[in-house]
Amino acid sequence: MTVQEASERARLLAELDVRNIIHPHTTIGAPAEPLIIERAEGAVLWDDTGKSYVDGTCGLWQCPVGHGRAELAAAAAEQIGRLEFYSSFGDYANEPSILLADRLLRLAPPGLRKVFFTNGGSEGNETAIKLARLAWYNAGKPDRNVILARTGGYHGMGGGSLAATGIDALHEGFGPLLSGVEFVGKPHGLEHGDDATCILVAELEQRIAEIGPERIAAFVAEPVLGVGGMVPPPPGYWPRVQEVLRRHGILLIVDEIVTAFGRIGHWFASEHYGIEPDMIVTAKGISSGYIPMGAVLVGERVLRLADGAAFRHGFTYNGHPVGAAVALANIDILEREGLLDRAKEVGAAIRAGLEPLAELEHVREVRGVGLMLGVELDRDAASVQAGARRDGLIVRAAGTNIIISPPLVISDEQARTLVRVVREHVTAAGSRPA
Ligand code: PLP
Repeated sequence: MTVQEASERARLLAELDVRNIIHPHTTIGAPAEPLIIERAEGAVLWDDTGKSYVDGTCGLWQCPVGHGRAELAAAAAEQIGRLEFYSSFGDYANEPSILLADRLLRLAPPGLRKVFFTNGGSEGNETAIKLARLAWYNAGKPDRNVILARTGGYHGMGGGSLAATGIDALHEGFGPLLSGVEFVGKPHGLEHGDDATCILVAELEQRIAEIGPERIAAFVAEPVLGVGGMVPPPPGYWPRVQEVLRRHGILLIVDEIVTAFGRIGHWFASEHYGIEPDMIVTAKGISSGYIPMGAVLVGERVLRLADGAAFRHGFTYNGHPVGAAVALANIDILEREGLLDRAKEVGAAIRAGLEPLAELEHVREVRGVGLMLGVELDRDAASVQAGARRDGLIVRAAGTNIIISPPLVISDEQARTLVRVVREHVTAAGSRPA
């Protein structure tokens, strides 16, 4: 293709995109200018004009092993050639999902005993919420159906997962959502100072008392807030929260859709924070996003409560053999290449490089753990996303936060580029009005 033909084709694709596609999280009817990503390798993306970008977000956190892995393409092709799909409803089963469940349960924290496969995160949280309610219903406690969630938490876009998402703007216009969902405050150390854990635990106790512990089925939470601003918990938060939940018999659903599969240097963040979940919901990194896949890991207590219950729940593509085959190959890569340790090492280096930004007046905090990093400004962060993109770096602005979560394979040099470009545009944001 000549340069002129390539540029004509790029123009045509952009025009068709704007005319025909409704993109997630955009304003319907608003002018748009798509960035068409054409190929990717490791931590680098190329658009359809040939411009390259360091991928500082890994899309939506989904790609720990990096882009362009021939091994994952081969795993998918091999499985499609043998059996592309057959339903897992009822007693139908397939080999890759059987092997994947076994592998996941061996990697998971103790006490998790069974796996329900999904196609993604929202579906996983819908499943966990329904399973928590069903468990108590089956145990003769149908009124124990309240789901307790946190302001700032993000759990997805389905009826239940959105209801449990504590970001008001995302609810606007979609009501009424699933009823029986209650909230506690955002677990944000910055807003509560050194006493954050005590304040948050006291608030949790009070909220449980107000609702009535015997009415609460489960507490759902991310170990580290993702969309809510890459906020790690204040010190000692998780053991104390877990103690309160246990004392009141409330099930704990840990949303590890972002945090699992190495993002913070562990297979599951629950390990890092000493959490013993009743259910873990995971997706994204399980298959590095090469194909949609997710899993809910279900613990002993839930299985005991739900024993004998008819679980009338399932989506066509649950237990997809191609997704499972890709996930198994993805876990092999994470293991073989020592990428969990790499996340800790390069995450610490990026964090150290960004730390000086905290001195700036318009920067509220630089924070994060592993390769879940964030910079919070006192103003909208959109200009940082736009400026970085012009300079060949993809980062994501979520309100006043900049989200940084590259693939675990990001090289030292790419990490230095990321730090340099973020520093430049965060600094420049200070000269714009708050
Ligand atoms: N939970 C968390 C913590 C997430 O970050 C996301 C997506 O970003 C979801 C749930 C929803 O996952 P999905 O978009 O695959 O439905």
